[in-house]
Amino acid sequence: KKHYEILIIGGGTAGIMSAAQLLRQKKSKSIAIIEPADTHYYQPAWTLVGAGTYSFDKTAKPMAEMIPKGADWIKDKVTEFEADKNSIKTDNSGDISYDYLVVAPGLAYDFSLVPGLGDAMDKGVVCSNYTNPKHTWDVVKNFKGGVALFTQPATPIKCGGAPQKIMYLAEDYWRKNNIRSKSEILFATAGTVIFGTKVIADTLMKVVERKDINLRFNHKLVKVDGEKQIAWYDLTKDIKAGGCIVMSGENDGKYIDESFQYNYKDVKVTKKDGLYGIHFDMLHTAPPSVAPKFVRESNLVNEAGWLDVDIHSLQHKKYPNIFGIGDVAALPTAKTGAAVRKQVPIITDNIAMLINHKKLGSKSYKGYSSCPLVTDYGKMVLAEFDYEGNFTPDPKLKRMLITDSSKEHWRLWMFKKFMLPYLYWNRMMKGKNV
Ligand code: FAD
Repeated sequence: KKHYEILIIGGGTAGIMSAAQLLRQKKSKSIAIIEPADTHYYQPAWTLVGAGTYSFDKTAKPMAEMIPKGADWIKDKVTEFEADKNSIKTDNSGDISYDYLVVAPGLAYDFSLVPGLGDAMDKGVVCSNYTNPKHTWDVVKNFKGGVALFTQPATPIKCGGAPQKIMYLAEDYWRKNNIRSKSEILFATAGTVIFGTKVIADTLMKVVERKDINLRFNHKLVKVDGEKQIAWYDLTKDIKAGGCIVMSGENDGKYIDESFQYNYKDVKVTKKDGLYGIHFDMLHTAPPSVAPKFVRESNLVNEAGWLDVDIHSLQHKKYPNIFGIGDVAALPTAKTGAAVRKQVPIITDNIAMLINHKKLGSKSYKGYSSCPLVTDYGKMVLAEFDYEGNFTPDPKLKRMLITDSSKEHWRLWMFKKFMLPYLYWNRMMKGKNV
């Protein structure tokens, strides 16, 4: 049976960055990454791909180039944990045991949670930057007016801001191409705020006003009829919008009565069986998201089905030699690569401390995550926040950006389009300080 001192599940943002930093520490005897995919993607740039301002090819690199020298690549899928035996099962490579396990397989899409969406997705006028940003760009380009509906499911999703970023860029594109005056743009979300951090929400509400976007809060997407082009929503008080925008974007339980039914303007809305069907001429959404199946079905998850780690040390609550980071982890903050950037040093420090001194390190993850909200071609706001939803600009980035990142600025756009991809490929993925 194969054995590694440190075994990493997943060769995405979190897995590669962890391996690279662990290797730089030179504390461990053997490290392997289990990853089935041939390609590694820089997903944050897909927002720009969907708006026709970034090449999809530039977001992909062969996995073989990403696996850091010094780590073994086991090209396989994990199928089951056997945490009591310090071992995991794989599709084709048998069981593999470890001293320390880093769980970073990201999240999975579960279309069964919104019936009809899976069939409609990435076809015709239904698109998602999460699954096929090139198709999104086709849909945006070919839109001739009518109702443009931007929405998101009530499950946690990665990068909670992405469903609105593409809307702001699409609006800009349509405005420049004389389509805007012939269209109504709706943003429907199960949340009750546009963003969970106050200063950012203030800026975004001004953007929404400037762009005359029709905002629909408390709208839980429950099914999609791709053929008739209707998205069905539940507007009841029981909506639980776990992490729909950022952590505090959850429904506060306020009952929405009929008289407070919004003005849908020129949008056709059908009411049926207590649901509201919004008729659309194009639809962009994030897919309903869950932890990967082998995680969900294990004894390592919390009630909501996400990897149950301590939110500050990122150590598993039951198994002290298991750590969880990235999208799979049950952390009450936004699931982003930016969060991974702050999480990796915590677990690499903790693992090194456990190897050498048999105790955890003293570093603590405070929930830092960030969301680069592009608001026009050439403009961006950088939301950075912690577990409490406080605005927490990273001092290093602040020095680099020399601007108040809670306000729109062209320099932030340049940062997103050029600087961040550079930092990602050349520093983050190489385990260097960023
Ligand atoms: P991933 O990077 O998704 O990697 C998971 C890896 O695990 C994959 O390679 C997968 O093949 C592998 N895996 C899955 N199952 C198994 C298994 N059974 N066995 C072994 N391996 C497995 N973040 C930002 O910081 N800023 C942004 O602006 C931003 N915008 C985004 C826009 C979009 C449209 C999307 C989709 C994401 C965006 N993100 C953004 C989020 C960011 O990409 C993720 O949060 C980040 O990639 C999470 O890293 P991860 O390693 O947890 O997951």
